[in-house]
Amino acid sequence: MSGARRGDDTGPHNRPAAVVTGGSRGIGRGIVLALAGAGYDVVVNYASNADAAAEVGRAVAALGGRAHLVRADVSRPADRRQLIDEATAAFGRLDLLVSNAGVAPDVRADLLEAGEESFDRLVDINLKGPYFLIQLAARTMIEQQAAGLTERPKIVVISSISAYTASVNRGDYCVTKAGLAMTTQLYATRLAEHGINVYEIRPGVIETDMTGPVRARYDDLIFNQGLTPIRRWGQPEDVGRAVVAVATDLLPFSTGQVIDVDGGFHLRTL
Ligand code: NAP
Repeated sequence: MSGARRGDDTGPHNRPAAVVTGGSRGIGRGIVLALAGAGYDVVVNYASNADAAAEVGRAVAALGGRAHLVRADVSRPADRRQLIDEATAAFGRLDLLVSNAGVAPDVRADLLEAGEESFDRLVDINLKGPYFLIQLAARTMIEQQAAGLTERPKIVVISSISAYTASVNRGDYCVTKAGLAMTTQLYATRLAEHGINVYEIRPGVIETDMTGPVRARYDDLIFNQGLTPIRRWGQPEDVGRAVVAVATDLLPFSTGQVIDVDGGFHLRTL
């Protein structure tokens, strides 16, 4: 049966364990709370905002779950290693990696003006970091399967509608998200023989700190101009529920699958 068991077991290593990068705020926070509600122990990774991470830790405890907070920059190889090592030490098993951490460009710059510094920063955090963190997590999962610690671990990549939507004032961001789409396909193909399914979740416009600076513009697009058939902002828990669905093996014969959590943004209409 399913490897990622629901959390009705109480022994120290009997509950499934997840790592969520960027779990301290926004979409990552929603994913962490949804997983805690489904019985997972969760490693909450963050970059620098320790207060936000601590708040998520308390929220997990209030749900009866266990959280382990790890400050690690996913763009740094040593930090990625530390994250996986700490996760294993904390909970003894790794059933799920959710690669969620990501950043927007500090300044939205036109494609003909944008500089390399922002491009390099976004590639390092949004693409190269996840690419190699997934590699590390997959190796760990395969080892743990051999040791009988986990059965059918899973990997979830949080990309974006920007994987296929051209925004010429943040080309760097779009390129990293398109790269994540191929990252998902690559790992899904490679890891199928190990029984590790890999999913790409593509959020649309979600209400978080990241979209705070463009809130008024998106309000207009959603509520007045019909940007999405479902006329509301997406919420972090919308993404959290999708993660729980795949984590708990509700799509066992699907891998490399793209799951749109976007209020229907991807639909073509006439
Ligand atoms: P957010 O509110 O800005 O939160 C970002 C999270 O990522 C924070 O927990 C932050 O940690 C962490 N983080 C940033 N850089 C990191 C690094 N180098 N290493 C580790 N953690 C890092 O963003 P969000 O809106 O929740 O977005 C989460 C993901 O969803 C991103 O990949 C984003 O591209 C994607 N997404 C967002 C939307 C949207 O509309 N919001 C839509 C589609 C896709 P600190 O708290 O320490 O800063």
